[in-house]
Amino acid sequence: MQSKVLEDMNNNYSFWQHKYGAYLPNEALPKGSYDTDVLIVGAGYTGLTAARELKRDNPDLNVMVLDANEIGFGASGRNGGFNMTLFGMEPETTVLRWGKAKAREAQTYMQKAVAYVRDLVEKEGLDSDYEHTGMWRVAYTASQEKRLKNTYRLLCGLAKEGSYEFYDQDEVRKRLNAPQVRAAIYEPETGILDPCKHVRALKKLAEKAGAKIYENSAVTSICKVNSGVEVKTSNAIVRAKKLVLATNAWTHTLSGPRKLRSRQRAVWTYQVVSDPLTEQEWNALGWDDRMSIEDNRQLVHYLRITKCGRITMGGGNIGFEYGNDMDKWHDTNVWQDLEDHFRWLFPTLSHKKIYYKWGGAVSANFDMVPEIGFIGDENIIYSSGCIGHGVSLTQLNGRLIADLISGVNSELSRFWIVNRHAIPVPPGNFLSYAGVKAITSVLKGVDWFEERDLRKASKADTKGDVDA
Ligand SMILES: Cc1cc2nc3c(=O)[nH]c(=O)nc-3n(C[C@H](O)[C@H](O)[C@H](O)COP(=O)(O)OP(=O)(O)OC[C@H]3O[C@@H](n4cnc5c(N)ncnc54)[C@H](O)[C@@H]3O)c2cc1C
Repeated sequence: MQSKVLEDMNNNYSFWQHKYGAYLPNEALPKGSYDTDVLIVGAGYTGLTAARELKRDNPDLNVMVLDANEIGFGASGRNGGFNMTLFGMEPETTVLRWGKAKAREAQTYMQKAVAYVRDLVEKEGLDSDYEHTGMWRVAYTASQEKRLKNTYRLLCGLAKEGSYEFYDQDEVRKRLNAPQVRAAIYEPETGILDPCKHVRALKKLAEKAGAKIYENSAVTSICKVNSGVEVKTSNAIVRAKKLVLATNAWTHTLSGPRKLRSRQRAVWTYQVVSDPLTEQEWNALGWDDRMSIEDNRQLVHYLRITKCGRITMGGGNIGFEYGNDMDKWHDTNVWQDLEDHFRWLFPTLSHKKIYYKWGGAVSANFDMVPEIGFIGDENIIYSSGCIGHGVSLTQLNGRLIADLISGVNSELSRFWIVNRHAIPVPPGNFLSYAGVKAITSVLKGVDWFEERDLRKASKADTKGDVDA
């Protein structure tokens, strides 16, 4: 068993993919020349949802999906599984850049997105281990609590009534034994799922609707031609009337129209999972509502219970690469930070072994808001910038993309992230790398400042130990 864990970690699989067990991918696109109405590149939540919805709307349309790896090898098969409503980076940044009306519209879209996922799981009976648990956003320090209260007021003004509650320390203590947590925003209408089981269930739905999916078929070039778009893999050519690029964090690496290089960059986030907890340990924690939890840091930690009785925690420090490399799957320093944070947050679990560690890439752009855009004459549609909050968003985006392809003027296709004027990522590798590094340094600086009391307290504890 232990050697299988190491083998899967070396192959850059997530815990969820490991737990899923044997998986037989579809055949790669055979050598040849093909014509299709719609080609979708990337088979995560965005691509698979768009494929299914398109086929349901237009059964006669030929829809082909290509993925460079197994479906769900990207963020969709390795995320935290939070079916959540956070849009972009933070509500404050969305309001600052786009104003209250658009932030309100975005919040409505996200609530719809969470409901879309939940309804899909329930109606189609998907084996996604879905639980509608609710979610907490927690503060550890006085400064974080002050900001949390402001965020709560802002969110209450953006979302429908009853969407959020505020818990002070007494309320928190009744629901969770985590002494470092001083306050929380509770959001009941959110859930958790097993991301890998879910993405593989989406594959089945897309195939049932009639989409043709090929795995391990990397697209190597994209070229606009008179009748649409011509796409190449290592051994095949596909001509499509419409092309959907659902390649998320890989979008800048695609060889095709220049615009693709300036939409986003990959940012890496990491996750760990503990050994299963015993009944006694669960009782000591009192985490009875099974809610998912994020903290109110800039470089946020996210944690939740798995169906099989473990705790998984991710986030904290992030990673990014110079140039087009997409190979930061492992980061032992971040994994160690996560392990330390886990033990600090749950002192009753300080002995617990951390079981499995992995990483994955999210798509970040420079104004920290998702974007769905066209290239040129609207034959190519891309989706990017979902940051670490794309489980619900990308699935509703898939539905939206189906409307765009069919030329339907709907509430979804009118959502303002479609064809918005996103700030382009600076050209060249140095400027974009420096830009991401600068933004990250600012975020780290805010966390450092807001957590100064924690450092003072920990120094005093250490001194106390020495004096004693
Ligand atoms: C560790 C981690 C934790 C996260 N936790 C959460 C969370 O709890 N809640 C939340 O809301 N969001 C979370 N996210 C973000 C969320 O997972 C993503 O926003 C979402 O899954 C993106 O889906 P997607 O279909 O757009 O892209 P992806 O799932 O990344 O799919 C892109 C696909 O494109 C394929 N591809 C790339 N290049 C090519 C090519 N040249 N040819 C063919 N195919 C190609 C890739 O193989 C990949 O399968 C997390 C992300 C990570 C990495």
